[in-house]
Amino acid sequence: MTNPLLADWTTPFGLPPFADMSDDDFAPGFEASLTQARAELALITDNADAPTFENTIDALELMGETMHKVLSPFYTLAGVDSNPAREALQREFSPKLAAWGSEVSMNPKLFARVEAIWNARDTLELTPEQSRVLELTRRDFVRSGAQLEGANFDRLKEVKERLAVIGTQFTQNLLADERDWSMDLGEADLEGLPDFVVATARAAAQDAGKEGHLLTLSRSLIVPFLQFSPRRDLREVAYEAWVARGANGGDTDNRDIAAETLKLRDERAKLLGYADFASFKLETEMAKTPDAVRDLLMQVWKPAKAQADIDAGKLTEMMHADGVNGDLEAWDWRYYSEKRRAAEHDLDEAALKPYLQLDRMIEAAFDCSTRLFGLEFAPIDADLHHADARAWEVTRKGEHVAVFIGDYFARGGKRSGAWCSAMRAQQKLRGDIRPHVINVCNFAKPAKGSPALLSYDDARTLFHEFGHALHQMLSDVTYESISGTSVARDFVELPSQLYEHWLEVPEVLQQFATHADTGEPMPADMLQRMLDAGTYDQGFATVEYVASAMVDLEFHSGEVAADPMAKQADILDGMGMPSAIRMRHATPHFAHVFAGDGYSSAYYSYMWSEVMDADAFAAFEEAGGAFDAATARKLEDHILSVGGLREADELYTEFRGRLPGVEALLKGRGLDKVA
Ligand SMILES: [Zn+2]
Repeated sequence: MTNPLLADWTTPFGLPPFADMSDDDFAPGFEASLTQARAELALITDNADAPTFENTIDALELMGETMHKVLSPFYTLAGVDSNPAREALQREFSPKLAAWGSEVSMNPKLFARVEAIWNARDTLELTPEQSRVLELTRRDFVRSGAQLEGANFDRLKEVKERLAVIGTQFTQNLLADERDWSMDLGEADLEGLPDFVVATARAAAQDAGKEGHLLTLSRSLIVPFLQFSPRRDLREVAYEAWVARGANGGDTDNRDIAAETLKLRDERAKLLGYADFASFKLETEMAKTPDAVRDLLMQVWKPAKAQADIDAGKLTEMMHADGVNGDLEAWDWRYYSEKRRAAEHDLDEAALKPYLQLDRMIEAAFDCSTRLFGLEFAPIDADLHHADARAWEVTRKGEHVAVFIGDYFARGGKRSGAWCSAMRAQQKLRGDIRPHVINVCNFAKPAKGSPALLSYDDARTLFHEFGHALHQMLSDVTYESISGTSVARDFVELPSQLYEHWLEVPEVLQQFATHADTGEPMPADMLQRMLDAGTYDQGFATVEYVASAMVDLEFHSGEVAADPMAKQADILDGMGMPSAIRMRHATPHFAHVFAGDGYSSAYYSYMWSEVMDADAFAAFEEAGGAFDAATARKLEDHILSVGGLREADELYTEFRGRLPGVEALLKGRGLDKVA
């Protein structure tokens, strides 16, 4: 029988035939596709004809289609529905993929061809897009070490392969620690918890095949537990378990992996002639240098810390009034902060929740894109990777635009957090290929028969990921390598964070925030209070984020730390980290930084993008409203449709007429008036 991964896909829209494939198909499929890709590579490097853009750069863009067909469904499954077989396959594939990556990017014959085209670029009459693709292709080769020779060349290859292996190990350890911890909650332990938390804990128990209620480390369960449980003893146990992920000793401990990763990255940067990994990494970002990043983070840190110190004082008073003596601890912050919010903003999250139904929030995200960009959504019946996933066809004026897939519920085996990826990216080189885009979230799954309800934070996450999806779906370029979200890391969060602003537009919530039982719209005063509360506790949120971003940056700057945990403590000390707030992601579970290269030395990107998103949304307001058609047009033309066609600062300036400052961000976080 033929391997379904390698056959022609006759499924609707050419979606992967998930129903036909089994885990046993992936390894042989991968091997076959690797052999094929090697043959394609040889055709390019051994071509007797002189190098041309078409026989080298185009050919490189087209290489590896089959491998993509195999790996795209595989990595979708490994991320959203892992199991021991898939984990073993990931461990098997990751060094092979790194080696294949090196075979291409460190290939002297191939680089010689690229270099020849680069040197002749002024005579080739390339389109602006081709020029850009050539520039980026050559830059990737140089940064991959194609110019290195001898022992340095071999060593760099080894370093990259080892980094790939331990990056995968880091993720798997984290997943294991998240999966392995849970705490039974007896009737007495449910004291003070709102219905939705109790229901989530009951669903978690059902998922684990148990009776009663279970607390797990899923963010959608542990965070509300820490907010609402008056039981300080339980909060402490749960909190300590949550922050100990990846640092529990034994086989799944990530601390040694973090140390080795930092050492190898430093070596990699030095082999390529950079002072340190941060300098290497930031060269291709919008920020360009570690100093530019440090500057931004410190501009934000000072007012954030001042606000957090004021807030810590207030929360400590509340705790003492509650009869608890001593210092405010990290497991107390969310609890007293929630009480303070309820008192000051009269906003009861539990009362709010029935108004934020998942299905209505999906409709809201769709509807905003209809009003802004004319997109329309129709559900489609397709065999997807999991029964909880759903798909829609996206069209505009009757023309097919994309397939959008949403996989919203948390489950064991799904990586934590939320993300967007293109299972198939937009491009025109191979024909008019439209994208298949997936949003993955970890919202609490409701018990059977009840509607899924979100927190306001969850709803924001939904809009965020949908913003990434728009960047993929509206893409309109020829070359896949610059399509959609293939942009600088510190620019990629602009479309997603910008889209969150539409959730805050009152008329959107008036229409879509309707009560799950009564269907009534959210009362106007509740809605206003919810929006006003948007800047609540931003001292805390900003401090926990900036601390993580700074540790990430300093880890990769200057001399490399032999003991990252000690260096982490030093950095936080030096910043004056408030004692009752910890990093949003401590080193042993900082997957952004250690699971791969993506956000290493680049966790600051979210804030860099926030500077732009605050300023970009202001462009709509200045032009007359959140749905101003001309501004939406500009956003699509200069940012959402062009991918990495030009440098990020150029794209932004085309859209806005200038670059942004930090003011709109501080104002948006309510930090413009402190210290
Ligand atoms: Zn994002």
